[in-house]
Amino acid sequence: MTTTAELKAKFAELQSTLAAYGHATGVLFTDGETVAPKGSAALRGRTLAVLSGITYELQTGADTVALLGELRSRSDELDPVTRRAVSESLRSIERMARIPKDEYVAYQELVANAGSVWHEAKNTNNFELFRPYLEKIFDTNRRIYGYTDPDKAVYDAALNEYERGLDTARCDAFFGALREKIVPLMKKVAAKNTAPEPFSLRRYPIWKQRILSDKLMDMLLIDRNYCVIGETEHPFTANFSRHDVRITTHYYEDNVLSSMFSVVHEGGHALYELGMGEHLDFTCLAGGVSMGIHESQSRFYENIIGRSRAFSEIVVPEFKKIFPDETADMDADAFYRAICRSEPSLIRTEADELTYCLHVMVRYELERGILEGKYEVADLPRLWAEKMDEYLGVEVPDDTHGVLQDSHWSGGSIGYFPSYALGSAYGAQMLAKMGESFDVYGAVRSGDLSPINKWLGERIWQHGCMYDPVDLFERCCEAPFDPKYFTDYLEAKYTDLYNL
Ligand SMILES: [Zn+2]
Repeated sequence: MTTTAELKAKFAELQSTLAAYGHATGVLFTDGETVAPKGSAALRGRTLAVLSGITYELQTGADTVALLGELRSRSDELDPVTRRAVSESLRSIERMARIPKDEYVAYQELVANAGSVWHEAKNTNNFELFRPYLEKIFDTNRRIYGYTDPDKAVYDAALNEYERGLDTARCDAFFGALREKIVPLMKKVAAKNTAPEPFSLRRYPIWKQRILSDKLMDMLLIDRNYCVIGETEHPFTANFSRHDVRITTHYYEDNVLSSMFSVVHEGGHALYELGMGEHLDFTCLAGGVSMGIHESQSRFYENIIGRSRAFSEIVVPEFKKIFPDETADMDADAFYRAICRSEPSLIRTEADELTYCLHVMVRYELERGILEGKYEVADLPRLWAEKMDEYLGVEVPDDTHGVLQDSHWSGGSIGYFPSYALGSAYGAQMLAKMGESFDVYGAVRSGDLSPINKWLGERIWQHGCMYDPVDLFERCCEAPFDPKYFTDYLEAKYTDLYNL
C-alpha cells in the first residue's frame, strides 16, 4: 500500500509541474501583451493551446482525480497546507466536471472571438455588432451556472466565482449603504468644485515619467529584483510567483497623473503577490485569493495611501526634482486637491475615488438584471444611459463612452465588477484596523512605508489562498465587513477637502 508520505510527494511533484506550466504560459501571455512582434500572435496561440491542453489533462486526468481522492480520505494525516491544496484542487475539478466538455470548449472559442468584435464595436461605436456575442455570453453563463451551482440563484453563483461567499443580499446592502452616502456627498462637492490645477494639465515628457515610475516603485518598497514595469494600452499586473511579477502602465504626455496612479495601483497588486508566504511556493495556493481582496490591496495603495495628504507631501519634492520646469506652481496642498478632485464622468477607469463606486453600481444592476432575465441585452445602451443619468447625472453621448467602454463582459467576466467596489471598501476598514497599531499617515509622511507593508504582509499577503476571502478579511480586521468604514472615510476626506 502507498504511504501517505509517498502520496504527498506525488502531489507536491504534480503541483510543482503545474506551477512550471503556469509560469511558462503566463510569461508567454505577458510577452504577447508587451514586447512580442505582432506577427507572432498565431504561433503563440498555438503554443498556448498545446500548453493548456497538457495542464488541463494534468489537472483533471484520472490519475490526478485518484490521487486527490486518496489524499482526501487521509485528510487527518495531512498538514494544513496540503489539506487545503487538496480540497481546493478537488473543488475546481468537480465544478469543471459538471460542465459538458463541448459546451465548455465552445464557450472558450466564443469569448476568444468576442474580444476582437468588442474592440471593433467600441472603436466604431457599433453596439449592434457586439450584441449577438454578448447575448450568447450571457446565455452561456446562465447555463453554465445552472450546471455548476444548481442550488444557487444564478447571479449569486456568478458573484461567488470572483468573490467566494459574496451574494446578492450582501451586495444589495453594501451598494445601498454606499449610494445613500455617496450621492448627497457628490452633489455637495459638485456645488463647490473649482477649475483643475494648471500643473495637472501640462505636458510631462514620457522619458521623465519613466523615472517617476521607478521612484514610485521604490517608495512603495517593491523589490525590483523580482518585479519589472512595462508599457501597455491598459495597465495590468501579471504574477507567476513571488519571484516574478510584472506590472505595466500607460504614459500620456498630457496626463502625468494617469500613469502615476496606474503604477501605484498595479504596485499594490504586485506587493500582494511578492509578499506570498514561502511555505506556499509551488503549490496551487500561491497567489491572491480573490478579486475583491486583490483590489483591496491595489486600491489601498492607489487611494488610501497614494491619494492622501501625507503622500502628497513626500511625492511633490520628487516631482520637483524630476520636472523642475513643469511644477513651479505645485505644492503639497495643490497637488492633493488635484489628485482628489471629484467630478461625475463617463468612464469608470478615469473616475475619481468618490464617484467610482457609482460606475460599478450601474454595471452591477445591469449584469444582474440580464443574467436574471429581467433585462434584455438589446436594451443595454438605453438602460446604461438611464442609469448613468440617475446615479451620476451625466449624459452618455454614444456607446463607445457608455456600455462598450469595458472589456469585462466580452471576456465572459460577469459578476466581476462588484469586487472593485468591495475592494475599495475593504481597504477603508483595513486602514481603521491598522490605525489601532500605529500612526499610518505618520509612517507615510516619514517616507518609510515599511510598517504598512509589514502589517498587510502578515495579515493578508503571506496567506495566499489558505483561507476563503471572507475568512481572511475577518482575520485581518478582527471583525465582519462593515461598509460604514468606507462611507465614513469618504465623508471625512471630502468634507475636509471641499470645506463642506
Ligand atoms: Zn486592479
